[in-house]
Amino acid sequence: MDHESSLHEVRLFIYISLVASIFTFLIRLGGYILFGNSVLLVESLHMLVDILISAVVIVVVYLVRSKFAKKYPYGLYKIEDLSSLLISILVIMVAVEIAGSIFSQPPVFLFYSAIVEVLSIVPLAAAGYIKLKVSSRINSPSLRSDAVHSIGDSLEGFAVAFGLYLSALFSSTLAYYATLAIALITLVVISLDILKNSIFGVLDLPKDKRLAGEMSAMIEKKAKGTKVSSLKVRWAGPVMFAEIVLRMEPELTIEESHRVADDIERELRNSVPQLEGVTIHIEPTARENFKVFIPLKLVGGSGARYIINKNISTADYFATAIIKHNVLESLEIQENEIKAKEFRGVETAERIAETGFTDILVRGIGEMTFGVLLRHRINIWRVRSDSVDKTLRAFLAHKLHKIEAPTLEASWRRKEKHE
Ligand SMILES: [Zn+2]
Repeated sequence: MDHESSLHEVRLFIYISLVASIFTFLIRLGGYILFGNSVLLVESLHMLVDILISAVVIVVVYLVRSKFAKKYPYGLYKIEDLSSLLISILVIMVAVEIAGSIFSQPPVFLFYSAIVEVLSIVPLAAAGYIKLKVSSRINSPSLRSDAVHSIGDSLEGFAVAFGLYLSALFSSTLAYYATLAIALITLVVISLDILKNSIFGVLDLPKDKRLAGEMSAMIEKKAKGTKVSSLKVRWAGPVMFAEIVLRMEPELTIEESHRVADDIERELRNSVPQLEGVTIHIEPTARENFKVFIPLKLVGGSGARYIINKNISTADYFATAIIKHNVLESLEIQENEIKAKEFRGVETAERIAETGFTDILVRGIGEMTFGVLLRHRINIWRVRSDSVDKTLRAFLAHKLHKIEAPTLEASWRRKEKHE
């Protein structure tokens, strides 16, 4: 079965269930008009609420799929919250209004009313069953809770019918009023639940607190090394929108981070069906640990000291600075054992990469050396002073700028120009 036709079928089943609920409503209302039993009035009012709420969801889902809604899905979904808010307030008002009058009305046609109530359960239970089947097929939690509601209503209908039957059997007014109270309380409870949910929706409060935590755990499991620094979920009607801020590992390039974010989005959409929109911000994590290479040369006679050399290829010494949690842990100076004249910079650069340096601090850099360092993703920083101390301090204070292009031309190109 292709996707389009299965979607068509799902829609058809949802309409069938809605029509079935309408039948339940009509049977109860007809029974009330015929026999004047107040229990049937309360029960038909309950069905009316359920139908209105389902209708609002369907209308909103259609609106959101419409062309004009592409721009404003969030606001349109809110229509459901607003409509639900209105419906629940109206129903609570009506329930309070009728509560006083119906209890003073005499119990009439108890046995016939019990039969009407039982008949009305048949389409309702069928609607619940259909919705339950469809919800597991399209993996929709909102449809599933609607199905569970219908099944619960069927059970409540049985209790009401049984109460009416008992009142008829024993001619008990007490049993009748108890039954009436059950129907009325159920109506008020569902209305309060709708009221609460719609207020949460309108005010952007979390309808499901657990879900955000589960989503964070899912992300950190899916993308190792990624931390969720914030995750906000906003509900609008039956769906939610997530805003996620992720901290990626500092070694990842922007492109790689983007790919990880795409993977995470796909995973979330697959496992959280209510998710309508996801926005992922990527926050690069600042590095804290460095192994820094500094090319040096020895100057002065008796009071000789090391200063930073103008490039890597002519440096006879180099310093290794180990920085842990942004604090200089050790500084060691040693001789550069690579002595070959040609490509000395390139060879040194290869050695720098092999020995795990993350950064180098230089005054200038040749084309080929630059290329090798770039390939190994070693950060190259421009040095302004020849003092090692001053430069390291500037590095730790993030005052140095990166060298984005080689500062010296390759030797063969230089020769070409002179010829
Ligand atoms: Zn209901």
